[in-house]
Amino acid sequence: MLLDYAKINLKIDVSLKRGVKMSCIFCQIVNKEISAKVVYEDDKVLAFHDINPQAPYHILVIPKKHISTLLELTEEDKDLIGHIFLVMKKLAHELGVAERGYRVVVNCNEEAGQTVFHVHFHFLAGRGMHWPPG
Ligand code: 5GP
Ligand code: ZN
Repeated sequence: MLLDYAKINLKIDVSLKRGVKMSCIFCQIVNKEISAKVVYEDDKVLAFHDINPQAPYHILVIPKKHISTLLELTEEDKDLIGHIFLVMKKLAHELGVAERGYRVVVNCNEEAGQTVFHVHFHFLAGRGMHWPPG
């Protein structure tokens, strides 16, 4: 029993040092504890198909670092966020939707519809989009 507590504490400690939230589903995808259809990966960013697509192309682009909402962004994340937009531009070209167009959506907190509290950019394309959004 004591040994089990030691193991759990060690796991929490290692996770906190890596900026990972153990209960976060997207951190689990980053750590390959849950599978996802990955379309792009580098040392800072992961992009994968949304499990419940709202358009022919619905890809989630996330920082590997755990940031719960847009409100938690800091000055040190500026390059990371710029990098994410360049990844989405690359995806648009690779998927052949750059000229037709694509939409990027980020929901922040409940009223905007955020359900997963690890910042993610919805990359949506492949159909006409409406405005204003719902
Ligand atoms: P939000 O509502 O927070 O802006 O978006 C969360 C998105 O994550 C939703 O579009 C939802 O379908 C997607 N999602 C939730 N759980 C999973 C999962 O386990 N795997 C994948 N690929 N997408 C997920
Ligand atoms: Zn996370």
